[in-house]
Parts: sequence; structure tokens; C-alpha cells
Amino acid sequence: MRILLVYPRFPQSYWSFEQALALVNRKALLPPLGLVTVAAILPQDWEYRLVDRNIRDVTAAEWGWADLVIMSGMIVQKADFAAQIQLAKQYGKPVAVGGPYASSLPDEVQGFGADYLILGEGEITLPLFVEALANGKTSGRFTTEEKPDVTTTPVPRFDLLELDAYDNMSVQFSRGCPFQCEFCDIIILYGRKPRTKTPAQLLAELQCLYDLGWRRSIFLVDDNFIGNKRNGKLLLRELKTWMAEHDHPFFLNTEASIDLAQDDEMLELMADCNFNAVFLGIETPDTDSLAVTKKFQNIRDPLSESVQKIMRYGLRVTAGFIIGFDGEKPGAGERVIQFVEETAISLAMFSMLQVLPGTALETRLKQEGRMLMGEESGNINQTTLMNFLPSRPIETIAQEYIQAFWQLYDPQKYLDRTYRQFLLMGEPRNKAKLRTPSWVVIRAMLIIFWRQGVLRKTRWSFWRYLLHIMQAKPKNWQYYLSICALGEHFLEYRQLVRQQIEQQLAEYLRLKAAQDQQAESEKTFAA
Ligand code: SF4
Repeated sequence: MRILLVYPRFPQSYWSFEQALALVNRKALLPPLGLVTVAAILPQDWEYRLVDRNIRDVTAAEWGWADLVIMSGMIVQKADFAAQIQLAKQYGKPVAVGGPYASSLPDEVQGFGADYLILGEGEITLPLFVEALANGKTSGRFTTEEKPDVTTTPVPRFDLLELDAYDNMSVQFSRGCPFQCEFCDIIILYGRKPRTKTPAQLLAELQCLYDLGWRRSIFLVDDNFIGNKRNGKLLLRELKTWMAEHDHPFFLNTEASIDLAQDDEMLELMADCNFNAVFLGIETPDTDSLAVTKKFQNIRDPLSESVQKIMRYGLRVTAGFIIGFDGEKPGAGERVIQFVEETAISLAMFSMLQVLPGTALETRLKQEGRMLMGEESGNINQTTLMNFLPSRPIETIAQEYIQAFWQLYDPQKYLDRTYRQFLLMGEPRNKAKLRTPSWVVIRAMLIIFWRQGVLRKTRWSFWRYLLHIMQAKPKNWQYYLSICALGEHFLEYRQLVRQQIEQQLAEYLRLKAAQDQQAESEKTFAA
């Protein structure tokens, strides 16, 4: 059986970093880990080819070669997901779909023409699919409520990836998160009881990447790396030895809840294992909003102290922020800016609250009659207007959001924050031998020197900050430069945010005015 794995294209987003990736000749930030895991779970006597549409198009020869097409993706990839299913059908190929989008909205995805829906986690549903194929079934829906034991999940087929095209690799140690944030779909898809692989499994995955020649960063795509702290520490103790034996070949980064700051042992181990960044879901500095959204873990300790403590361990904090929670007071955007500036978080991902399918938030808002969408999921991404009626006027929230995003990514403010962050941060602990930078890296540095050190108004700050970091934190200067490089993306992306939100807001207000006018005339007519 010849299987063509297709990963749909993402729209331009906060994380797409096109301009920064182009500087180092990369096409995408992260690979499709789900699809290479699927390829490892399916029979190994089948043949596999993988095309990531974020890198290139599928060729006619590849469509022709395949006996079956398998696709996976997230809701933000919806447009290309639908287009690729339809293209595969034009080539007369059966299509099987799975992953978070199909699992959350199977009927919508089936409407695009998929033949097989492999829902939930593949360790359980892929074998059901294989059995159905063996029995000659030409369509079917394979689903389970059960959450599989991931200690038997095989090493993903990293060999199927075009490794040079990616900036980071990804691996996964755990699935699920113990918390109960109302807007979160992770706990719906993967449950609140974190399940982990064994340390030996994860080390085998890292060894595989090492053997394939990978030497750049690796992202542990866990929903919450510290969801199961005991198992996380067991892994880190073994990883520390592995890293030292392999001369610390990669930097690692991951996602965690803010209570990481309360666990010194975990932070020590992460620093020893060459972790250099962590994403935290901070959401908002407003404690009332955190309580409304049931993010109680963010209320227990002062947020800014927690962020600063994590940074002292050499972990660069990136964080997610949201505007639009129920009961939010005016000025929420301004308060996010104040918090981000105070804590010197260079990369602050800021978006308007969106309701994801299946979440507790969706259930509540449906009961309250506040959803703006019908059964269709609509277009959910970081540059779309809210898909429900918030407790403040949408136009106020949207304006606060646009202004706050614009200010956060003002080139001078971004540079100042990045500088302060690297001064506050501890330095990497590893004693790895210095590696000669590749020609691609040297070229990227020269371009940054030219653009940010010569052409831009911020050039004097750029050089002053660089020289000071070289003196004060000599191990941090290359990472400071890499975050400066990401600033290239935000110059364009903040324009896109402003333009797209303003466009949608104008359309929303036009529709609202028309509805109000119609309601008014109906009232007059009835009277
Ligand atoms: S901490 Fe993060 S992953 Fe866990 S429930 Fe909250 S939003 Fe979801």
C-alpha cells in the first residue's frame, strides 16, 4: 500500500515568521509531528511519502503514485485542508483524515469529501482503520473516548521529513493537562490526566534525530510539560546524562504552566538539560478574568515574580495573552502592555478570545445564546474577530487589541524589551564545544547587521544593546540576535493584524446596523 501523507498549509500567523525563516533558508518553523507518528503506527511494510504544504506543493506524480492519501491538521489549516481533500478526490484517491481538527468537527471535515475519519488518538483508532481496509471497507468513522497509553507509541518516522526545511524539530513526551481553563480544547482532546512516554522512549526519539544529523533546536510539543512533574523529572535526570554524553547537541524548548516557577528542582534540571525557552499561557494580568476563565493556577502567586524567576534559570519566557474575557474592565489591552513591558517578555503572543469547538466555554456560551457562528466553525485564527458576543462591545475590545498589538511590536519597544530580557536571563549552562557557525548563519547575521544596524532608526540602540549583552551576558548575544531577527516578521505582521481586524470590524458594524434598522422598521410596522 502506498500512502501519501499531506500536511495542509497554515495561513500567515503570529508563529509563521516567514521573513525570519527566509534569512536562514528555512521554510517552516516546525514539522508535522502527528503525521510522522501516524506513519510509525501504521504497518511498516507499507510505503510512505510526506508532503508538507508549508514547504512545497504536491506534484502530479505524487498524487498519481498514492493508493491512499492521509491528512491531519488543526482548525487554522481549514482552508487548505478542504482544498487538498478535494484535489485528492479529483485524482480519484481515497482520503483518510485525522488530527485535532477532524476530531473536534468530524461532520464538517467529512463534508469536504473525506472517506475515512480516524478520530481521537491514533494509537487506538489507526488499528481499527487498518482492519477496516483489510476487510475491503471503502469508508468509515473510527473513534474512541479512551485515551491510549503512550508508552507503546513508536519512534516517529522522522526520516520522512525534509529536515533542512525546518527551523525546529518537534518531539512529544506527554499528552493532556491537569488544569481546567474554560477556553481550552487540549483537555477535551487529550484529557486532564497527563500521560507520558518513558524516558527511554524519548531518548530513542532524540537519538534518532541525532543520527539523522539534526543539530538545531527541538520543541517538546507537550500540552503542559510539567503536567506530570514526577515523570517529567525522571525524564530530565536521564536526559541530563544523554545530553552530556552527546556534547549538548540541541537546545530544547517547551510549553508549561506557570507553577513551573514553584519547582526549583524542575527548573534546575531543565537548565542542566539545555532548555533555553518556555511558553507560558499567562492570558491576562487581570485576576478577575483569570478566575472567570478558571485559570486558577495563574492566581496563586504573583505572575511577574514567577516569570522573572523562570528567566533567571536561563529560560527565555514567551507567553500567550488574550483579550475579551467576560467581565473584563476597560483598558485590558493597556494592562497587557504594562505587564509585558514590566516582565520584559520579548515574544508576547496576543490574540482576541475565540471559542474553540467542544470546550466548556462553547457549552456555556451556547446556553447563553451568545455564539455568533452556526454549526460551522468559521474562520478561527489570530487575525479573526471574536466568534461570540463578549460582555463588552466587540468594537471596544477590537480597538484595544489593535492598539495594544501595534504598540507591543513597535520596533523600538520590541528591541528594548528583547535587550532587557536577555540581561535579566541567566546564561546557558552547558559546556558544549563551540561550533563554527554555518555560512547560512553568518549570512543571516550580516543581513540583520545591515537592516537593523544600518538602515533602521533603531540602529544605535541595536548596537549599544548588542555590545552591552556581549559584555554582561557573553553567552546570550547570539540568542539576542536571533530574537532581533524574529522582529523582521512583526514589522509586517502587525500591519496585517490591524488591517484584517479593521476590515472585519467594519463588516460586523455594517451588518449590525442593517439588523438594527430592520428590527426598528419591524417595530414601527407592528405598531
Ligand atoms: S494550562 Fe494550558 S493546556 Fe492546561 S488547561 Fe489551561 S490552557 Fe489548557
